[in-house]
Amino acid sequence: MTAEKFIATPSYTKEILKKYRFSFKKSLGQNFLIDANILENIIKHAGIDQSAGVIEVGPGIGALTEQLAIHADRVVAFEIDQRLLPVLEDTLKPYSNISIIHQDILKADVGKVINEYFREGQRLHVAANLPYYITTPILMKLLRENLPVDSFTVMIQKEVAERMAAAPNSKSYGSLTIAVQYYTEANIVMNVPKSVFMPEPNVDSSVLKLTRRKTPPVHVENEDFFFTMVQASFSQRRKTLRNNLSSYFKSHYEKPQISRMIEDSGIDGTRRGESLNMEEFAQLANTLYSFIE
Ligand code: SAM
Repeated sequence: MTAEKFIATPSYTKEILKKYRFSFKKSLGQNFLIDANILENIIKHAGIDQSAGVIEVGPGIGALTEQLAIHADRVVAFEIDQRLLPVLEDTLKPYSNISIIHQDILKADVGKVINEYFREGQRLHVAANLPYYITTPILMKLLRENLPVDSFTVMIQKEVAERMAAAPNSKSYGSLTIAVQYYTEANIVMNVPKSVFMPEPNVDSSVLKLTRRKTPPVHVENEDFFFTMVQASFSQRRKTLRNNLSSYFKSHYEKPQISRMIEDSGIDGTRRGESLNMEEFAQLANTLYSFIE
C-alpha cells in the first residue's frame, strides 16, 4: 500500500509542519527534501531493489523514508529528535516495512540493529540526507565498524563530498580522502541545488556514493599508525613530508633520523602529502612502522 500523496512536495511538507507546529532545529541539521526527482535519483544510484534492506540516518518527516519503503524490502531509520516520532507515525502509516529507532546514530549499536531487523545475508545499503553538522563522524563511524553494508548513498555538503572523492594533487585531497577511500570507492553522483530543501541550507550539496571494498586497496601493517601518519603528513599542507613528519615525531626522533626512515621507504621526503597516492602512503607508513614498532 502506498500513500495518496507523497511527502516530498513543498505543499504537503508545509501542511505536515503546520499540523504538528514543527519548528526546524538548525542545531540538528534539519533541512528536509521536498523534491521527488532528487529522491528518485538517490534511490536509483543507491542500487536499491525489492530485496534490499536499507538503513537511513535522520528520517525527518519521512520524505526519503517513504520512497525507500516503496522500493526496498525493509527500512530502519535512526532519528534523534523526539518531536518527529509522532509525525513519522502519522506520515508513514501506510507502510508496514519501516522501523524508526529513536537514537543518536553516533551512539547506536548499528551492528546489533542489523542483526535484529534484517534477514541474515540480506543485501544492505545506507541511504540518507545526512545532518551536515556531523557528516564526517557519522560516515567514519559506519565505515570503521565494518558493518555488512554494500554501499552508502548520502546527501552531504558539496565541499565534504569533494574531499571524500578527491584524487591526489587536487585541492580537496587530504587525510579524509585516504580514510574514506581505504574502505570504499567514492563517487559524486550529482550536485544538488539548494532549492530542493526546506529550509534551504547555507552550503551547496552533493550526493556521494561510497561502495564498500571487499578488502582494502593497500596492505598496511598497522591501521591506526597508517591513519595517524597520513594525518601528520597533511598537518601543514604547504610543508614537505619531512617537515610534517619530523614535527609530529619530534619527541621521539631527531629530524635526520626521520629523513633516513623516509628515504628507506623509497619516497622523496621533499614531496608534499598531497602528491602521494594511497599506495605510497602505505609504503611510507609500513617502513616507518618497522622502525617505530
Ligand atoms: N531525511 C529527511 C529528509 O531528507 O527530508 C531529513 C534530513 S535532515 C538533513 C537530517 C535529519 O537527521 C533530521 O531529521 C535530524 O533531526 C536528524 N538527526 C540529526 N542528528 C542526528 C543524530 N545524531 N542521530 C540521528 N538523527 C539525527
